[in-house]
Amino acid sequence: MERTFIAIKPDGVQRGLIGEIFCRFETKGFTLVGLKFMQASRELAEEHYGVHRERPFFGSLVEFITSAPVVAMVWEGDGVVAAARKMIGATNPLVSEPGTIRGDLGVNIGRNLIHGSDAVETAQSEIALWFKEEELVNWQPTLSSWIRE
Ligand code: UDP
Ligand code: MG
Repeated sequence: MERTFIAIKPDGVQRGLIGEIFCRFETKGFTLVGLKFMQASRELAEEHYGVHRERPFFGSLVEFITSAPVVAMVWEGDGVVAAARKMIGATNPLVSEPGTIRGDLGVNIGRNLIHGSDAVETAQSEIALWFKEEELVNWQPTLSSWIRE
């Protein structure tokens, strides 16, 4: 079953939006398999955003993401990687569609509330970076047959 890595960023935590954001994935029907509240180290943040190392915003992005706690999560479901990206919305909240998390809750690209893996392979490496295997829970929600055929 497909899995994706989602993180509520420090702005989402500081603004009291953990519940609002978490609720969207839960009510959608995806299955939570990993969850932790933590403050990311500089090393972890630099590795996570390694693909952006040469970009001008890299330094401030790492500062920001390590500046307060994040909620790190792994969600499971058919097509969850692409579906979560759709629910999250475009990188710049000013152009994210209303109805998306960023479109509904944000106004600034540097404070866009949430991270979601951009592809299945990226999800696998991000999950391995943020979670140990034993921190992920394999379980079957009893409601499953009412959510998917
Ligand atoms: N970012 C930024 N300024 C930019 C572009 C990106 O601060 O001009 C930050 C923003 O927090 C974004 C993150 O860098 O979420 C990673 O950028 P990416 O293009 O991967 O966007 P995402 O995958 O998060 O939509
Ligand atoms: Mg990205």
